[in-house]
Order: sequence, then C-alpha cells, then structure tokens
Amino acid sequence: MNTPAYPFDNRLLHALPGDPERGPRRREVLGAAWSSVLPTPVADPRLLAWWPEVADTLGLQPGWQEDPGMAQVLGGNALLPGMQPWAANYGGHQFGHWAGQLGDGRAISLGELVAPDGEHWELQLKGAGPTPYSRGADGRAVLRSSIREFLCSEAMHHLGVPTTRALSLVSTGQAVVRDMFYDGNAQAEPGAVVCRVAPSFLRFGSFELPAARGDITLLRQLVDACIARDFPWLDGQGEALHASWFRCICERTAVMIAHWMRVGFVHGVMNTDNMSVLGLTIDYGPYGWMEPFEPGWTPNTTDAQGRRYRFGHQPQVAYWNLGRLAQALSVLFTDTGPLQAGLAAYQETFTACTRRDVAARFGLDTASDADLALYQRWLQLMEQGAMDMTLAWRGLMQLDLHAPQADVLAGAFYDPARRESVQPALYDWLHQYAQRRRDDVLAPAAQQAKMAAANPLYVLRNWLAQEAIDRAMDGDMGGVLALQNVLRDPYTQRPGLEHYASPRPAWAEERAGCSMLSCSS
Ligand code: AMP
Ligand code: MG
Repeated sequence: MNTPAYPFDNRLLHALPGDPERGPRRREVLGAAWSSVLPTPVADPRLLAWWPEVADTLGLQPGWQEDPGMAQVLGGNALLPGMQPWAANYGGHQFGHWAGQLGDGRAISLGELVAPDGEHWELQLKGAGPTPYSRGADGRAVLRSSIREFLCSEAMHHLGVPTTRALSLVSTGQAVVRDMFYDGNAQAEPGAVVCRVAPSFLRFGSFELPAARGDITLLRQLVDACIARDFPWLDGQGEALHASWFRCICERTAVMIAHWMRVGFVHGVMNTDNMSVLGLTIDYGPYGWMEPFEPGWTPNTTDAQGRRYRFGHQPQVAYWNLGRLAQALSVLFTDTGPLQAGLAAYQETFTACTRRDVAARFGLDTASDADLALYQRWLQLMEQGAMDMTLAWRGLMQLDLHAPQADVLAGAFYDPARRESVQPALYDWLHQYAQRRRDDVLAPAAQQAKMAAANPLYVLRNWLAQEAIDRAMDGDMGGVLALQNVLRDPYTQRPGLEHYASPRPAWAEERAGCSMLSCSS
C-alpha cells in the first residue's frame, strides 16, 4: 500500500529558535526551544492497538492500520513527507524543587498534522529513543507503561476530561531494562512506543526554563508563539494580551482539576513539567484511580513519604504550580496585579466547577451552600466507611427517595467493620439527601439522567489495566481491546461488563502496578 500524503505545518519550529546542533548528544541547550533529533529505529515495529476515533479526528485514510508503512512511522523507523522530528526543551519544579533543564527525554514530536477540519495536531512518539534531554536514561518506554498511557488518555477523553490523546501502541521487538522500584532488581521488559497527539505539548516548564536562565527574549518568543498557535482568539496586545492568556491557563487548569476530582483520578506526579498550558491532562505515569475513598492516597511510591500528589491535594498543587508559572512570567509584567488576578480566577473557576459538579452528581438542578455542606459530609462518610468512590456515587442513583435504604451502597464497601462504623450516620445522611432530592425542582427522571452523565461507572482501575497488561505480556491484546470498548462509554451501564465495575479484588491490594507504581517506566 502506498502511504498517502498527509499535510504537515510545523508551526512551532517556524516560530521559535532551534538548537543549532542536531542529534541526541546529551547537553544543556541554551537559547532554543527545541532540538532536531530523529527517532532511533527499533528492531521490529508492530501495531498492537489503536484508537479509531483518534485516527478519524486526524483524518487518517481508511485502512491506514493495515499499511505496514504506518507501523514503521509510528514505531520511529520512517518519516512521512513533511515530518521534521524534534524534542522540546523545558524545565520544571519536581516535588516542589526547581530541577533545571528536563526536556523531552524520550518523547519526539514528528510534526503538526493538519486535520481535515483545519485543526493542528502534534504527533509525538513516546519511547522513541534518546534526545539531547535524555540525561542518563535510554529514551525508551516499556510495554506496561505504554499500555497505561494508551488506555488512560482515551479513557479520560471519553469521561469528558481535557487530555492529550493516543493514536497507537506499537511494540518495538526490543527489550528495555528497568528497575521498577529502584531497588537493584533490574529486569528486561518488552519495549513499546505510543503515538500521542495534542494541539500542543507546551508545559508550564517550557516557560519556566528560559525565565530561570534570564533569557527574556526566548521567554517572550515562547509566549507569543503559544498565543498565536494555541490561543489565537485572545484579544489585546502586550501586557493585556499576556494577562488574558495567563488567566485562560488558570481557568483551564481549574476545569481540568475539577474533572479529576469528579472522576477520581490521581495524576501521581504533578510536577510543573507535567502541566500543560492548554489545561490538558498530560504525561500518564504513576497515576491511579480512587477505589476506597481516601483523599490522602497517592499511587506513586516515589511520593509515598510526603504524599505531595495525593488525591485531595491536587487542587492546591495545581494552584502552587500556577504560582511557579506566574513567577516565570512576572518579568513580562510591570506589576503583578494581572498575575494575581489570574490566580484568583483559578480559585473562582474551581469553586464554580465544583458547585456545578456537586449539583450534577447529586442529581440536583443547582447546588446551594447547604448542598455543598451535604457533599462534604458525604465525602467524610465515604472516607470513614472506606467506600469505593465510583460505586458509592452510582449507588446513590438507585436510592428509593421515599424509603431510603443503605443497601443501595452495599456493593461499595471493602471492609465489614468500616461499613458497620458508618451505618447510623449514613442512614441519617441518606434521609437528608433523599429529602433534598424530593424537594428539588427537577423531576426524578431528569435527576437520574443528570447523575448518570456525571458519575462514571467504568473507570480505569489500576488492577483492570494490570490484567490487560498481564495478558499483553503473554502476547494477547484481548484485554486491551476489551478495555477500549468498555472505556469508550464510561457512563452507560451495560450487561456483561460487571467485571469492569467491581471493587478492587484482594489480589490487587499489594500487587505492583495496582496499588504501587513508580516513575520507572
Ligand atoms: P517524567 O517523570 O516522566 O515526567 O519525566 C521527567 C523527565 O525525565 C522528563 O524530562 C522525561 O523526558 C525524562 N525521562 C523519563 N524517562 C526517561 C527515559 N526512559 N529516557 C530518557 N528520559 C526520560
Ligand atoms: Mg513528564
């Protein structure tokens, strides 16, 4: 098959200065936003899985997945005309500390594909080999973490959460050596490459790095290029334009975080290099999903000590991260007023989103302050009773509003003693809640519909991902395929999918990859 010509328009490269040196020699890159570097070819690229809806969005020709040329491109062995591969230069605050230059150490962008509707999509291979930013590492990714990114990106999209997307999962036919828990037990694992796509992969750290280096020229170029490319509708000039842009980033970040809190997603490593300026969830590593509701939980073993990135702390961390971005941008402003206003807009937007989500998840027309108090109490009860977050919210949908009974929540409990401890308080709460629903202006059917659209039933529980990974390691992609079908429609209960809406089984409690994850991927 002849691979058809696809239009590329690599605006980032045209708008921003590049590194004069090409190739992957590890180095500090000054005065440049990107470095030209080719993916390192792999032994035997094979397309293991793909998301047809992403291919459609990009305008890939029907039958593209049968074209062996495409597996070569998506594995990093060949380029399509118009592709000009690069790795981006950025820094970041990691676990609260400035880490200096980081950059795309194992991600290589191939180009900006222009979709049939005119949208630009940056195609980026993750695990494509070393770049100038790889430091001591190999630039590769293992199959297990590639499956996790491949599945979760689209799971989030179908949940309605802003996110980078995933097109393809390609096996490399090459082993990658990883020490999963940094404890001296390195093992060879199968390697893979994910092609992820987004209008832009610019991060907070893209702006922090030139600011930290005092390179105001590059900082200004980056801001202007980002606005022109990703926020072309913003009005104004100079400081006023920059202020609207920062405010927009703050608002989008708030929207994204509110969604995470709604669906029970814990990112796990919210360093500023992992925060998109488009407000997209980016860099799926040691993420996890709330099962027993526990705001203090983090899936990331690297974060086990300080638990900086625990579920309940995400809204504050995002605010702190925006503060780092504001600090980086402050040299472009004569006073900090507009930056403070942007940060305030984060808080306002987050509060407004939370209020809207509380109404939707409770099946109410709108949420009053009293409803927010009811919500806080519900969170406390879920925590005290160690209820499965997803199943508890769905359980509320089944409540008989005229004779409320706690048995609608029976399937959400993990521990009989914890269940017992919460019974009397839960009974009272359910009565209050049922009363509130009865008093609401929405009809019961409308309440149900609102709840069903806001409370997902099928989320990518870590052990579900792990089951699919275990099968894939044995050469069987059936588990990944099955999850794709489930996660594509996370709000609609369907017969036969009970397994995907079950609480965490006992075997997953201590299993690596289920309750413990690290950054080693
Ligand atoms: P992360 O924690 O995945 O966001 O990565 C932090 C930094 O380490 C980024 O600059 C990554 O590109 C880089 N990095 C992570 N894994 C690798 C790897 N296997 N090879 C090279 N660079 C990596
Ligand atoms: Mg990262």
